[in-house]
Amino acid sequence: MTDRVETKRQGLGVSAGIAFGRAYLIGRDTLKAPRHHIELDDVDTEVARLYKAIAASDKQLAKIKEKLASENESDYHIITAHQMMLHDEHLVGAAVGYIRDEHINAEWGLRRAVDDIRGVFDSIEDEYLRERRSDVEFVFERVLRNLLGRDTGPLSPPPDAIVVAYDLSPADTAQLHKAAVAGLITDAGGKTSHTAIIARAHEIPAVVGLENITEVVETDDLVLIDGSAGLVIVNPTAQTVGEYREEQRRQVAAGALLHAMRDLPARTRDEKDISLFANIDGSDELEDALDYGAMGVGLFRTEYLFMGTELPDEEKHYQTIKTVIERLNGLPATIRTFDLGADKLAPFLEAADLGEANPALGLRSIRLCLTDLGKGLFKQQLRGLLRASAHGPIKIMFPMISGIAELRAVKVVVDEVKTELAGEGIPFDNDTKLGIMIEMPSAALTADLLAQECDFFSIGTNDLIQYTMAVDRVNEYVSYLYEPLHPSLLRLIEMVAKAATAANIPVTVCGEMAGEPMIAPVLLGLGIRELSMSAVSVPEVKATIRATTISEAEALILRVKKLSTAAEIRAMVSEFVFGLAAARKERKA
Ligand code: PEP
Ligand code: MG
Repeated sequence: MTDRVETKRQGLGVSAGIAFGRAYLIGRDTLKAPRHHIELDDVDTEVARLYKAIAASDKQLAKIKEKLASENESDYHIITAHQMMLHDEHLVGAAVGYIRDEHINAEWGLRRAVDDIRGVFDSIEDEYLRERRSDVEFVFERVLRNLLGRDTGPLSPPPDAIVVAYDLSPADTAQLHKAAVAGLITDAGGKTSHTAIIARAHEIPAVVGLENITEVVETDDLVLIDGSAGLVIVNPTAQTVGEYREEQRRQVAAGALLHAMRDLPARTRDEKDISLFANIDGSDELEDALDYGAMGVGLFRTEYLFMGTELPDEEKHYQTIKTVIERLNGLPATIRTFDLGADKLAPFLEAADLGEANPALGLRSIRLCLTDLGKGLFKQQLRGLLRASAHGPIKIMFPMISGIAELRAVKVVVDEVKTELAGEGIPFDNDTKLGIMIEMPSAALTADLLAQECDFFSIGTNDLIQYTMAVDRVNEYVSYLYEPLHPSLLRLIEMVAKAATAANIPVTVCGEMAGEPMIAPVLLGLGIRELSMSAVSVPEVKATIRATTISEAEALILRVKKLSTAAEIRAMVSEFVFGLAAARKERKA
């Protein structure tokens, strides 16, 4: 321990867990773009320098990607997006324009072009898109380092270090994961920054948005992170270290206990088996899903296949799903056809520049698949999925279905694809189950009709809440209205569950609320028997399920139905769950 005083800083906890370690500072703010005017004769040389640095940056990113390709699809796609920025006409064209028109050096020209783009990003209201501003900065910094001949090699912190940085690029974060660092803390960043996304995926405790932590911490200081609380303690006293070591032991023991439940059934105390599935974004997440005890995949979000420079073709879809089937080895997988638009943009959609005033209510998801813009891609995906169905059990699920007419239109396309495949003598499973997501009130209210014409339902509560409450799911100003336990939502879920049961088709809940242990008894009481969630939530949800009975859950719903506000319901449900934990302790004693 050093003799420096203990200092606490509150930031945004984006990846849970407690970590201790020596600080490893990554000093990025020391890099300044030199500014000077050049002679007219030197303009071409300066432009050539810029292109050379861009080419070198591209190569470095390609190398990092090569290492990631087989392991992490999402990191891979993020770095692909950075490569695209390197060749972006607006950015590079503007930099070259400044060099030629104002006779300034390449570093300055590039800085000016980046500042122009930054201005645009700063004025964006959407938090996720605003945070993409830092991606432009990461790309700029790499090119600048190449222009200046500075080291762009891999970061090499010692294992178990706490990495302290202004911000970290996805390429940095992916490398740090490999270096087995203990934790990450940064001045910048928000919940949806890439540092956050990657840290969570790799379970590295992380706190971002600490504003000036790079000025507070010195290399080799002892740093303690509480990723759940968003707390960073620099040079903690022996007493603080003792307290947190105890908490860390408690969390590790609780985690191990939950992990040990992997092979136990998700069975209620009155012997009802509940199916717990994982939501995944790429086949690289399957290992974790199985490790946490998921019984298959309840939602494969295929949108991420569309985020790279190249659009996925039939073969890509086929190979991806074949891999999923092989790794699941007989366990079921529900594959959702691409749900692009609104908060999930892909380069081809951005290029189409639809200029919609309300994208969440616009040409997104299945609507896009049924127009000329998306139909070709949709058919290629369906061909790939159906071909994969010859290798094992998959279900195909369609997002954002508003009602029967849309469901029928989709089935016409599926039939067209099946006829094509059969005509070409290509094998597929003709009985592949076709289901729909229930994500808007119009679908929930007509669930009895929809249930007659599809094989299963999956309730996407993330969007169902958004469209029921008319609250943008990514807008922090109205997030107080985004409430899974609102009586309106519970009524809709019950209505869908009843329609599915009456038609004898399965119904899953796959929105984020399915992964909240406290809400599990509510869903059971409403008639839900299948839940799909982030893999890490499976053990905790299973623990709650194992502590309750269906009759207790149904009795809870009878009491909940007498309440009028989400707050009252939340209070009653948390009291119920608290009671379950107490009863479990008593049974053990
Ligand atoms: C949902 O809306 O609940 C859902 C699971 O889909 P996504 O979050 O991908 O929109
Ligand atoms: Mg959705």
